[in-house]
Amino acid sequence: MQQFKAQSKKLLDLVVNSIYVNREIFLRELISNASDALDKRRFMSLTDSSLSADFCIEIKLDKDNRSITISDNGVGMSEKELEENLGVIAASGTEAFKKSRDAKEGEELIGQFGVGFYSAFMVADRVTVISRKAGENEAHAWISDGVEGFDIMPAVRADCGTDIILTLKADDGEDKYSDFLESYGIRGLVKKYSDYIRYPIKLELPPENDSDTEKKFDVINSMTPVWKKQKSELGENELDEFYKHAYRDYRAPLFSITSRVEGSVNYTALLFVPSEPSYDYYTKEYKRGLSLYCNGVMIMECCEALVPEYLGFVRGVVDTSDLALNISRETLQHDRRLKAISQGIEKKILSEFAKLLKNDREKYEKMFGQFGKALKFGAYADFGVNKDKLKDLLLFYSDSHGKLVTLRECVDGLKNIVPIDDAERKTKAPILYACGETTEKISMLPQLELAHERGDDVLYFTEPVDEFIARMLVSYDGHKFENVASGDVKDDDRPRGSEGLLRRIEAKLKGKASVAATSRLKSYPVCLAAKGDVSLEMERVMSAMGNSVKAERVLQVNVDHPAVKNLKKLEGNMFDDAVTVLYNEALLAEGYHTEPEFLPAVNRLLGLLTPEAEDAAANKRKRKPRTVSKTDAIEVKAEVVDGEGGDAE
Ligand code: ADP
Ligand code: MG
Repeated sequence: MQQFKAQSKKLLDLVVNSIYVNREIFLRELISNASDALDKRRFMSLTDSSLSADFCIEIKLDKDNRSITISDNGVGMSEKELEENLGVIAASGTEAFKKSRDAKEGEELIGQFGVGFYSAFMVADRVTVISRKAGENEAHAWISDGVEGFDIMPAVRADCGTDIILTLKADDGEDKYSDFLESYGIRGLVKKYSDYIRYPIKLELPPENDSDTEKKFDVINSMTPVWKKQKSELGENELDEFYKHAYRDYRAPLFSITSRVEGSVNYTALLFVPSEPSYDYYTKEYKRGLSLYCNGVMIMECCEALVPEYLGFVRGVVDTSDLALNISRETLQHDRRLKAISQGIEKKILSEFAKLLKNDREKYEKMFGQFGKALKFGAYADFGVNKDKLKDLLLFYSDSHGKLVTLRECVDGLKNIVPIDDAERKTKAPILYACGETTEKISMLPQLELAHERGDDVLYFTEPVDEFIARMLVSYDGHKFENVASGDVKDDDRPRGSEGLLRRIEAKLKGKASVAATSRLKSYPVCLAAKGDVSLEMERVMSAMGNSVKAERVLQVNVDHPAVKNLKKLEGNMFDDAVTVLYNEALLAEGYHTEPEFLPAVNRLLGLLTPEAEDAAANKRKRKPRTVSKTDAIEVKAEVVDGEGGDAE
C-alpha cells in the first residue's frame, strides 16, 4: 500500500471533518470532477476526432452492496495520474491542465482547489476508482479506505473514462448514509447542486421485473441554466416558472433582472423581485442572499455577501467562473471578486429600480408598497452611507399632490407653489413633513392648518424610519426638511399681548411642556410641538426601542381661538380643568393617550352645562349687559370649587 503524503493525511482529516459542513455535497464534487473530465476529453476531441463520444455522466445505486457509482466517459486517468491526482490532496490536476493550455476553454473547468475528490470520504469508508485514460488500452483501479493510503492495481474497463465507486459508511444513529441510496434523494441533490451541468446526468432505473435485463436511465438534470439562455431561447414564462420553482412561490415575480458582466470580474446574474414578501420574510427564518454558482454548479444557496442587507428581498442567482468551487464561507466573505460582484449587482438593481420608476410608475409603486420599507431602511442604515444612492428611489405621500411623490417631485412642486418673484423661498423653501400613524390621521393634524392655508406642501411620514431619513438627508436639493410639529418652525407673525395667559397656562402644566403662541393654527386652539433635536415622533420610536430620549414639549397656543380667549376669563379650578382639557386635546391629536386627570376634568366641565350656565352663555351671545353673565359665571364657579374640594381631598 502507498501511504498518503504526510501533509495530505492532515488535509484529508480536515476535509472530511471540517471544510464541508454539508455531507451531501460529495455528489456535487464528484459530478463536477466528471464534468471536468468530459470537458477535457471534448477539448481533445476537437483535434482528435477518434476521441469524440456521447458525453454523459451515469449514476448507479446498489442497495445490496451499499454502493453508489458515478461514471463518466471523460478523459480518464493513467496509473501515474491516479497516483498523482488522488494521492496528494491539493495537487489539483485540473490546475495543471489549465496551466498547460492557454485556452479560454480551460476557464470553464470547475475544479481549482484540489480537495473535492476527498469529500467522498465523508460518506464512504471505501472509495474505488477505476479509470482508463483516453488513448490508452489499460485500465487501473485505485482503492482506499481514506485513512492510511491507497492501492493501485490493474483493472478492466471497456472504454476510456472513470468510475467512482463509493461504499457507504454504516448508518449510525442520526447519520443515515443509506438515504443516499434512494433515487429520490439523489435526484434531489442533482437538482439542487448540479442541475446546470452541461452534460446529461443519467440515473439508472431499477429493472421492472427479473427478465428485464436492458438497462434504463433517466436524465435528471436540466443542463442549460435559464440564466445562460439568450432571450430568444427562453420559453414563454420560463423565467417566472424558474422563480416559482426555485423559491416555492405560487405567484410570478413582479419583475426579473438579467445582468451579464464581462471585465475584471465575469458573472451572470438573474434576479427577481417577488410580487409580495415571502411568508417568512419578516421572521428570523428568512434567509436573504443570492444562490452562488460557479460555472453552473451551486456552491452556496443563500450567499449574503452578494447583496446588501437592504436588498434582502431580492432573490436570484449569480453564476461566475471567477471563484473556486471549494471556497469556504469564511473566505468568501472577504473575497475581492465577490465584493466586486456584489457592488455590480447593487448598482444594477438600483438602476433597474430607477428605470422602472421612470417607465412604469404603477409597477414601481406596487414594488415600493411591498419593499419600500427596506429601501428606506437602506437609506438610513449604516450612518447613511447609501443615502445618496437611494434618496431618489423613495416615495412619500404628498399633501398637495394627493399621492405618492419622489423628493424631486416634491421639490419641483414647491417651486410652483411659491410665487415666482420670491426667489429666495423658491430655492430655500423647506420640505415640510408631518408624522403620524396613517395618512388619514396626519391629514387631521392641527399643525397642518397653516400649511393648508398657505398652500404649502407637506409630506406625510407614516413610518417610524421616515423622519430618521429626513434627519439623515438634512436637505434635498437645497431644501431643508422641517417637521411641522417642531417648535422651530418659524411663525412669521407671532401674536403679541398674550404673555400673561401663556405664563398662567405654563404654570398649570407644571413642567410637562413649555407654552408658546403660534399663528400656525386656525380652527384648533392648541397643538403639541417639540423644541430642539428630538421630535415627538423620534421620542416615540426611541422609547419603543428601549431608549429614554425625551422630546422638549411645547404647547402651541392659538391665541385668536375663541376657546383660548375664553380661557382668559376663567379662574381657579375651572381654568385648571380647561387647561387640562386643551393639553389633552393636543396629546390626542398627536396620537398619545390622555392623562388620568383628563376625564374627571371633562366631566366637571360638562357638569357646568347646567341650564343656568347655558342661559348665561346664551345671554352672552345676545350681548346682554356684561354684569349679568359675569354674576352667573361666578356663581357657577363657586359651586364647582365646593364640590371638587370635598371629593378630592
Ligand atoms: P479538483 O477537481 O479541484 O482538481 P479534486 O480533488 O476534485 O480536485 O480532484 C483531483 C484531481 O483528480 C482532478 O484535478 C482530476 O485531475 C482528477 N480527477 C478526479 N475525478 C476525475 C474523473 N472523474 N476523471 C478524470 N480525472 C479525475
Ligand atoms: Mg474537483
